[in-house]
Amino acid sequence: MKLSFLGATGTVTGSRYLLEDGHTRVLVDCGLFQGQKELRLRNRAKLPFDPATIDAVLLTHAHVDHSGYLPLLVKSGFRGPIFCSEATFDFCTILLPDCGHIQEEDAERANRYGYSRHKPALPLYTEQDAREALQSFKVVEMNRDYALSDILAFTLIRAGHILGAASVRIDDGLTSVLFSGDIGRYRDAIMPPPAPAPASDYVVMETTYGNRSHIDTDPADKLAEIINRTAERGGTTVIPSFAVGRAQSILYYIHELKRERRIHDIPVFLDSPMAIDATDLFRKHHGEHRLSVKKCAEVCRTATCVHAAAQSKALNEDVMPKIIISASGMAEGGRVLHHMKHYIGNHRNTILFAGYQAAGTRGAHLVSGAKTVRIHGEVLDVRAEIDRLDNLSAHADSDGLIRWLRSLSAEPRRIFLTHGEPDSAGAFQDKIERELGWQAEIPDYGQSVEL
Ligand SMILES: [Zn+2]
Repeated sequence: MKLSFLGATGTVTGSRYLLEDGHTRVLVDCGLFQGQKELRLRNRAKLPFDPATIDAVLLTHAHVDHSGYLPLLVKSGFRGPIFCSEATFDFCTILLPDCGHIQEEDAERANRYGYSRHKPALPLYTEQDAREALQSFKVVEMNRDYALSDILAFTLIRAGHILGAASVRIDDGLTSVLFSGDIGRYRDAIMPPPAPAPASDYVVMETTYGNRSHIDTDPADKLAEIINRTAERGGTTVIPSFAVGRAQSILYYIHELKRERRIHDIPVFLDSPMAIDATDLFRKHHGEHRLSVKKCAEVCRTATCVHAAAQSKALNEDVMPKIIISASGMAEGGRVLHHMKHYIGNHRNTILFAGYQAAGTRGAHLVSGAKTVRIHGEVLDVRAEIDRLDNLSAHADSDGLIRWLRSLSAEPRRIFLTHGEPDSAGAFQDKIERELGWQAEIPDYGQSVEL
């Protein structure tokens, strides 16, 4: 088999691997590149393969950096099935059309205000393209073998992380390759731990937190401190959040803090149609998380759901302290930008990022202490408190990643480290050697290896 690394090399975005055996060509994940411009430009570059020649896509989970290119792949001629778990499909039904919609809006805005160098600015794909791509999805169960061809078979293995997230193992009868997908935390308030990794000859694994340890404190403590401090100044806490997974964790913690009367009883708004739909999916996929039916219903009721755009804008007319949870998580698009424009210029307010901010994003820029920020072509002074909650991550930290590797019953022939910034992948390569005595490689963008 031949494996090519077509994304998630030196970055946490654009997950995309091509595995071929001479008869069958399979893509594992097909995500969007996000963050720095040179990365984003890759979304518009010609693919190094003809999409019509790909037989199938195996999707580990719904996050856009793993799934967000699929509408364009289908639009460019891919005609095969996209296999994934049921919850992943449900999340993609929410995420992908929204992603298309945001791109249409961004292109439209760029054309109206003339701040794009492309004339006219065009969306990568539209909401309609995304809806069409969803027709190609085929739901499969976890822990069952499915045939890809006469020779190749695949299995999804639960990875924690978010609802429906899986590792993918592909086997040709002689050789097996395990793609970790994104590995969840072993101790998480909402998600169950990743399942043990099955023995495999080759392993491709993520290293998002390869050089970091999650602090052993309750994220609720810092959340309470910030919400209270901001409310006591008469300000609003705006939490840019990923709609899928992260928004629900934040709701859970806010619910618990309110129940324990540790924060002021101020209104909470979930202002993201996508996050609202994703929250509903927690009710549908009960077996996939740790919350009881009753607790899940209570958590869902913690916030007022804001559906209409007009209602979202009206939130900013109310001067009373409140909490607004809105997407996107790295402030690269979505309704949260309107709230940030409104609140970032006043010292009373807080913009609280909920987790890791990829290099080059507006979130990373602000978290690093920027004094100004550009939103919709407008340069704004940053006077609000900017902070970040670190231990809400849905990713295993470096010890968790080692624990996952250790769960393989034997040392793989080769380990490829991907889905991490260079420092992170490098540090994790050293850690593997130090703690397990195993060798791991860090592939380059576009590199191919024979397995
Ligand atoms: Zn993910």
